[in-house]
Amino acid sequence: MARDPILAPVRDPVPELLAQAAARLAREFSALPALTESGDSARLAAVLDETAARLGDNYPYFHPLYVGQMLKPPHPVARAAYALAMSINPNNHARDGGRASSEMEIEAVGQIARMFGWDRHLGHLTSGGTMANLEALWVAGQIAPGKRIVGSAQAHYTHGRISGVLKLDYSPVAADASGRMEPAALEDELKKGDVGTVVATLGTTAIGAVDPLEEILALREKYGFRIHVDAAYGGYFRLIGEELAEPARRAYAAISEADSIVVDPHKHGLQPYGCGCVLFRDPGVGRFYKHDSPYTYFTSSELHLGEISLECSRAGAAAVSLWTTQKLLPLTVGGEFAAGLAAGRRAALELDRRLRADGRFEALAAGAPQLDIVVWKVKAASAEEASERAQKIFDAAARRNLHLALVQLPRYWFDGGVDTETVTCLRSVLMKPEHEAWLPRIWDELDAASTEVVGE
Ligand SMILES: *Cc1c(COP(=O)(O)O)cnc(C)c1O
Repeated sequence: MARDPILAPVRDPVPELLAQAAARLAREFSALPALTESGDSARLAAVLDETAARLGDNYPYFHPLYVGQMLKPPHPVARAAYALAMSINPNNHARDGGRASSEMEIEAVGQIARMFGWDRHLGHLTSGGTMANLEALWVAGQIAPGKRIVGSAQAHYTHGRISGVLKLDYSPVAADASGRMEPAALEDELKKGDVGTVVATLGTTAIGAVDPLEEILALREKYGFRIHVDAAYGGYFRLIGEELAEPARRAYAAISEADSIVVDPHKHGLQPYGCGCVLFRDPGVGRFYKHDSPYTYFTSSELHLGEISLECSRAGAAAVSLWTTQKLLPLTVGGEFAAGLAAGRRAALELDRRLRADGRFEALAAGAPQLDIVVWKVKAASAEEASERAQKIFDAAARRNLHLALVQLPRYWFDGGVDTETVTCLRSVLMKPEHEAWLPRIWDELDAASTEVVGE
């Protein structure tokens, strides 16, 4: 299918950016005795050439025609900053492991906390959202030992498993046809009197549903429990919360009232993998982390990052990359970073609009995408046939270089079918700002792939 070269040769700005910054960094250490050059660069080049060839066996995540899973390329400045930090390889486990990068982590995390309306907080980066959620639920368990954790049936699958690791009971609460937690079902659980923490997801992984945080907060007044907001995916939408449709807008406005928040800079924050973030509204939870390891370097009277994290060694480079990205693209309402989120969301709304106007597909009965994830069912006589068709369109689209994703969803979300039945649907996460400009091409390929499978 070589109709056009999918990857027009574009100049990667990273090597040049990196060379300039590396020269500056070398000057910072110019007082040290010179090192003799090491290594046999021909051998290194040969093995790297093999690495590059191996890496070709990947979906082209960086390309706008990749519209499948939650994958967003790191910003060039993030790649350059990460690589620059690699010449130092700091460890943010403690200040002596990464003096500058620890400061940068504290600043960058403070900016994220302020995005959520918190001037005071306790928080740090983690290796990802799972580890960040583990910390939040671990603190929750320290505060309410033995109490149950509940989250919606659409919450991330790791919450059940994390609770198991922490030896805390976990139960799912029903979600409605828009993928949001049902407040009435939550109240039924709360009435049992043993719920310590409610996990509210702002931006579910499957469809980007936003749990009704305002209603959950109202229930907290009545029943008293901790609220952990899992916004690993959706956290940054706080910056364009006012542009979202109700009731998501209200949920984002209420996020500051949560007890803890998780957001993944490695999802929507333009960072390489290995960058999650956990935040607590009450800095006093730092007391739970207390340890007196003899081999942790204590050089500061303040709690350093190694004293407020469950993980020991952590990549200082992740903090350097995040700090640099936020310096270039501050987390401000109306800023350039927020504009990128808004562009992806417009692309999602446009794809959803086209799907609704096409007789071959069924979009969510509950309405337009809440964030930037679009899911749709292929029309067919049975759920089984709809699933098969989705798989075939997925394959036909991939042959055309359009990479979609598949997801199992309740059938009644689309056509009111039997509510225990699931159906394989197509899913597209339109999280790159360029998706907006590429939407006509994305649609053409989807249309052509669908024509191959089910006709015009
Ligand atoms: C991705 C995601 C997680 C898990 O985060 P990782 O960074 O993949 O470990 C948790 N919760 C939600 C809502 C997510 O989207």
